[in-house]
Amino acid sequence: MPYFIQVILPLSVPKTFTYAINEAEYHFLNPGMRVAVPFGKNKIYTGLVLQLHQNPPQLYEAKEIHQILDDYPIVTETQLKHWQWVAGYYMCTLGEVYKSAIPTGYLLESETIITMRPGFTDGMELSDEEFMVFEALQQQSALKVGEVSAILNKKTILPVLGKMLAKSAIQLQEEVNEKYKPKTVRYIRLQEEFLKEEQLGELLQLLSRAEKQREAVLLYFQLFAKEKKPVSVKKLTEAGATAAVIKSLIEKDIFEEYHLEEDRVRFHKKDDADFSLSDKQNEAFEGIKSSFDQFPVTLFHGVTSSGKTEIYIRLIEGYIASGKQVLYLLPEIALTTQLVGRLTAYFGNQVAVFHSKYTNNERIETWQQVLQASEKAKVVIGARSALFLPFQDLGLIVIDEEHEQTFKQQDPAPRYHARDAAVVLANYHGAKVLLGSATPSIESYTNVNSGKYGYVALKERFGKVLPPEIVLVDVKDKYKRKQMTGHFSDTLTEAIAETLANGRQVILFQNRRGFSPWVECMSCGHVPQCPQCDVSLTYYKYKNQLRCHYCAYHIANPTHCHHCHSTDISTKGFGTEQIEQELKVLFPAKNSWRMDQDTTRGKHGYEKIIDAFKNREIDILIGTQMLAKGLHFDNVGLVGILNADNMLYQPDFRAFERAYQLMVQVAGRAGRKEVRGMVMIQTYNPHHNIIRQVTDNDYEGMYREQLYERHNFKYPPYHRMVRIVLKHKDYEKLKDGAMWLYNVMAQNLNVPVLGPEEPAISRIRNEYIRAIMVKIPLGQALGKTKQSIQKMLDSLDAIPQYRAIKVTVNVDPY
Ligand code: ADP
Ligand code: ZN
Ligand code: ZN
Repeated sequence: MPYFIQVILPLSVPKTFTYAINEAEYHFLNPGMRVAVPFGKNKIYTGLVLQLHQNPPQLYEAKEIHQILDDYPIVTETQLKHWQWVAGYYMCTLGEVYKSAIPTGYLLESETIITMRPGFTDGMELSDEEFMVFEALQQQSALKVGEVSAILNKKTILPVLGKMLAKSAIQLQEEVNEKYKPKTVRYIRLQEEFLKEEQLGELLQLLSRAEKQREAVLLYFQLFAKEKKPVSVKKLTEAGATAAVIKSLIEKDIFEEYHLEEDRVRFHKKDDADFSLSDKQNEAFEGIKSSFDQFPVTLFHGVTSSGKTEIYIRLIEGYIASGKQVLYLLPEIALTTQLVGRLTAYFGNQVAVFHSKYTNNERIETWQQVLQASEKAKVVIGARSALFLPFQDLGLIVIDEEHEQTFKQQDPAPRYHARDAAVVLANYHGAKVLLGSATPSIESYTNVNSGKYGYVALKERFGKVLPPEIVLVDVKDKYKRKQMTGHFSDTLTEAIAETLANGRQVILFQNRRGFSPWVECMSCGHVPQCPQCDVSLTYYKYKNQLRCHYCAYHIANPTHCHHCHSTDISTKGFGTEQIEQELKVLFPAKNSWRMDQDTTRGKHGYEKIIDAFKNREIDILIGTQMLAKGLHFDNVGLVGILNADNMLYQPDFRAFERAYQLMVQVAGRAGRKEVRGMVMIQTYNPHHNIIRQVTDNDYEGMYREQLYERHNFKYPPYHRMVRIVLKHKDYEKLKDGAMWLYNVMAQNLNVPVLGPEEPAISRIRNEYIRAIMVKIPLGQALGKTKQSIQKMLDSLDAIPQYRAIKVTVNVDPY
């Protein structure tokens, strides 16, 4: 009887592959274990076993696997089921989900190594490029594909290598490197034969003439007696034994060395971390618990500063006590430090963090801990990818700031929404989901109103702190009266001065979107553009460079116009840098800082700024969206929103909802303790409905109005959207292909199809872009429509002249 496995490969191919195994392997393997398998001519991939069976493939002869990489499954059956849901719902391949779900350290790297073919000496028959590779191989015995790419200074080197292979000039050698190495600690113990007391006397006797070694053995005993746990080499050397002495004792077979894996990330519980909930908090806490009796998913609508985190902690405690695992999802990695601090102070070492900035080793460690339901990972904190950890028995998922758009992955596939995928995952585990927000998303609130989700509200700030006072400044009027200095109205400048005079701090908020600074020639109006993308270059003052936001292109800031050679060049735009400059003039004695991508690079960039602000080393903090996301400062007296209008006028159906959320969240940073804070909003449209709703704290009003608009214009939650993006270097081909696809869809899908539209940025990295939007009404079968769309995409791919068009599909693209 032949034996086979179905294997998922980390590729964007739609199917799984069949490989042959022997009977012993058949009995050893289980779904969720990794196998190294050959693929194509020379590739080796790390595949994941999906199924075991005995049906030979019909169309090809199954290859044999190279080796089994795991002793036990590292991916659970529940995960495999969840991956299949993700692939199906978000219209991507299982391989893409696999690749993004698993830490890259688990995916063996197959790096092609190129060496000279022994006996080949004749360089004469090689082309110029081939000769360059040949020459390099004379200097260096082996090259990797990436190195060849660097030598030839191009990406598409496989054809060159292919020709060289055909000419027998080179050979390829596949190497599989296991990347993950757990960090270990070296320990020492006495060989067993010396453990009995009489032998010990003999041993010391034996060492009587080796004074140092004798001392080391005694030191070992002291340490062991004192700490009653394994003695590390480090401890022993710290106590006074030298490395050389230890080494000779090992050589004499008196000591034995061994290694234990160390966990890299350790946390300590603090004794003073306890707290009790206020009456209102307690009410909400009880409300959530009883809501969970009825609804697996509950929306917790708690105003900013109401103490949601404390309530989460109390809930989590209950789930851990009953032996369950808890997942705590955050919108942004930058926020973890504050939260990790708060949770670990309470739960100590039971908290694990899953962090994209951690190393592969660290991520694999957390993966293993979660898989083994270890005590060290009872609560996992992470951004959206933590959702893919191998939970065994999940009891609760907390999704903090559930309205945040960063929960949606845009690129690459799977383009999933972590909140929605979490709800599905929780269902598989029979777990509860708590969605927390001061400004719930319209979808979640709709799910409450339609009876799908439970709802608990907490309308009072903790410690009865008053909500901030909101003041509007009419910028149009201020300009007319000449009361603006740069971007600051006199009203805002005065408020800043007063706040600082009272010893309190200021936050200034500037929406980044659509407001990158640029340079412009004052003589001819020329604005430098990216040669590969359809955008103007962004001006970075601190590097004195112009950079493209979409590709790596950058140049030094020009001293003259490349168009007319005039030297009269001016910088434009409204970036945080300019605001910082203006503040230096307005408040020269004050310390202002900006928190944006430039100033926060590196693993601890955000933390440093946040700490400095907390420690009151910074008077004024200027920031972008980052500031809206749940950071807690207790000395902020004033929050200024410099330009509310650029949030309102974004080409996005959610612009108003987002503007509301952003403003309310930023406002929430003001006046956290004791004193009432102030929020000042500068706007050209003080009568705009959204501005009004922010001022009146009228979530309900905003919700109803937006819902009405969504209904009228066929947007979510009334219509589901699927966005199809097509890219090609050839403008005409792309245009024709997109039109072909649009026609097929419009004629056959029976739902509104829009496009093919040229997006605002219609060329990136030399590729032209077209987009088609499909809107699927609520009543229509979603799965069926997606299947039809997939069939049409397959047909497009089958037309030779369109095959090279790159297609991406984004389900719920918002
Ligand atoms: P939210 O997340 O709802 O905006 P937080 O959970 O950050 O609010 O709470 C706001 C502040 O109040 C924090 O500084 C927090 O430590 C404090 N706080 C909230 N609840 C309690 C409590 N029960 N006991 C002591 N401090 C609390
Ligand atoms: Zn570019
Ligand atoms: Zn010019």
